Amino acid sequence: MPILVATGNTHKLEEIRALLRGFADDLVGLDRLENPPEIDEDGDTFEANAEKKARVMAAFSGMWTLADDSGLEVDALGGAPGVHSARYGGVHGDNAANNRKLLADLEGQVDRSARFRCVIALASPEGEVRCVSGSVEGRIASTCRGTRGFGYDPLFIPAGYEESFGLLPESVKASISHRAQACKRAFEAWHKLLKT
Ligand code: IMP
Repeated sequence: MPILVATGNTHKLEEIRALLRGFADDLVGLDRLENPPEIDEDGDTFEANAEKKARVMAAFSGMWTLADDSGLEVDALGGAPGVHSARYGGVHGDNAANNRKLLADLEGQVDRSARFRCVIALASPEGEVRCVSGSVEGRIASTCRGTRGFGYDPLFIPAGYEESFGLLPESVKASISHRAQACKRAFEAWHKLLKT
């Protein structure tokens, strides 16, 4: 049974596919749907947005649906950009602008501690929804480094490492990231539902 992953972000889809490989192998993206609805991610929390995306797309498609809502929380910015991570610099999905704004906001700031958080929701076509989450602690670098991953990866140095996710091997991100933790919990909680 194919499971829909309700994201238009191909990096996220590929990470989730790799993290759930050998378990949920039939994961399909939104490109499988004709004219999927636009979803306004207007929730105050990652949970609210993940649940909304999963519920709306499951009802629309008639498929069991996974949705990831994730972002970066920076302590010196009171948890921003948080649920606004994708559009922090003004334009949704403009990673370069988001990274520029983050560096500008942190200029001269000594406390650069931060974390990535990820919530994954699973919805049935009938509207039943459940969530798991994961996070990874780290700090914000003073310049962008590396081209791996996406989003804030060139600026995020995970705890215990000296380089950003943009420079570290993909296997490191795949073993410690917020999304890796959430996928592990998804596997533990829902293996009977997700096994394809
Ligand atoms: P969403 O699609 O509304 O969940 O927005 C997620 C945004 O958070 C992305 O556009 C990135 O800016 C950021 N983000 C989430 N996960 C990651 C990650 O694994 N690496 C880098 N940035 C991420």
